[in-house]
Amino acid sequence: MTERFLDGRQAFVTGGTSGIGLAIAQGLAGAGARVAINGLGDAAAIDAALAALKKAGAPDARHWGADLRDPDAIAAMLEELAAWGHTDIVVNSAGMQFTASVASMPRERWDAILAINLSAAFQTMQALMPPMAERGFGRIINIASVHGLVASVQKAPYVASKFGLIGLTKVAALEYAAAGSRDSGGVTANCICPGWVETPLIEAQIQARAAQHGNDRAAGIADLLSEKQPSRRMSSTDDIAALALFLCRREAHNINGASLPVDGAWTAQ
Ligand code: NAD
Repeated sequence: MTERFLDGRQAFVTGGTSGIGLAIAQGLAGAGARVAINGLGDAAAIDAALAALKKAGAPDARHWGADLRDPDAIAAMLEELAAWGHTDIVVNSAGMQFTASVASMPRERWDAILAINLSAAFQTMQALMPPMAERGFGRIINIASVHGLVASVQKAPYVASKFGLIGLTKVAALEYAAAGSRDSGGVTANCICPGWVETPLIEAQIQARAAQHGNDRAAGIADLLSEKQPSRRMSSTDDIAALALFLCRREAHNINGASLPVDGAWTAQ
């Protein structure tokens, strides 16, 4: 297994400006891919992300700031992306969380979470999978969640979006399963289903738990973990990136339509 096994490949990572998406983008860059990222953030953070990708080994790196709640902005971004080059690997990592009961969930939060976590992935896959099939190689890696496999209270739109993302991924896997060959690497679509990963996405939940423990952050994290994640340790973003990178290898051509938990045995219960 060569180190720069993605030399000559192009990747597109939504949510690539932060957390899991940024770690995966860096992993892909380190394996030799040129990397396009989409995501929100201030100019300094985006410049830092692009510099990190080039430092990691990307021959080129670009950012698109399309707001994934806007299908027209996504379509325009995908057109520009096609002009930049053929995309071999798509990582849909953009995501949003908001906790409230079904009874009190604001309608606009429901719409935004479904748009970012689910509909945007549909749009990227619809545009970028057909050309992958023509070339015999392609990878869709959707960052779902344990909440695509099991539910928790107060997370209706998030859980609905992640169950939907797993369903969408399985359909795409079936539709493209016969594309390419063992030698070309085929076209696959899989979900990674993390449990707790310490990123800005879960900061509000950490803070809420810390507040119950005299603002002791470590105690808040321990409390969150003790509820559902039997390993009692968070994953790092690099842990998730390592799995995503493996899925991009030719040898992973028959891992298709899978939903891979990285959850410290959460969903084994
Ligand atoms: P994060 O907050 O660090 O990153 C989220 C990314 O999504 C950012 O790049 C942000 O700019 C982007 N984003 C949010 N709203 C957007 C919008 N309207 N338009 C464009 N981009 C937008 O969070 P993370 O933890 O890295 O989350 C990445 C993925 O992992 C998400 O899909 C999340 O649901 C999933 N996940 C996270 C955890 C965890 O514990 N952190 C667990 C399971 C699944």
